[in-house]
Amino acid sequence: KLGNETVKAELGRATWKYFHTVMARFPENPTEDQKEALRSYIYLFARLYPCGECAEHFMQHLSKYPPQVSSRNAAAGWACFVHNEVNAMLDKPEFDCTNLGDFYDCGCSEDEEGGQS
Ligand code: FAD
Repeated sequence: KLGNETVKAELGRATWKYFHTVMARFPENPTEDQKEALRSYIYLFARLYPCGECAEHFMQHLSKYPPQVSSRNAAAGWACFVHNEVNAMLDKPEFDCTNLGDFYDCGCSEDEEGGQS
């Protein structure tokens, strides 16, 4: 059982890192198509998350706090907020979302809005 918890936590850390990096790279002024892509992605991400119990919890969070996709700031702030909801549920400390800044730098700044076309 301890092994399972360790693996679940590792998957969680890797996933959050990826999830917040997606938000940090979302366009500052997205088109309607880009907004719709992010919204769909988030719902499918939740639905397909490999830990079934986690997916179920996360989908409940989504119905309470629908994804914010109007801008990079809105998306990153929303993701930080919902991650904090999961933190609270798991008795983990709250992350200060004003410190997001360059925390999720993908190391790909040379191709500006790369991968968002
Ligand atoms: P994590 O929560 O994994 O965070 C990793 C790092 O991200 C932190 O060290 C910090 O630097 C940063 N961070 C922390 N909070 C924020 C924030 N709000 N915004 C931005 N960055 C932040 N585990 C369960 O046991 N039950 C569940 O139901 C469950 N549901 C999950 C649902 C999803 C969608 C995901 C991705 C994971 C879920 N997990 C769940 C795993 C859990 O959230 C943690 O990933 C895991 O417990 C490891 O926690 P951690 O303390 O290492 O930090």
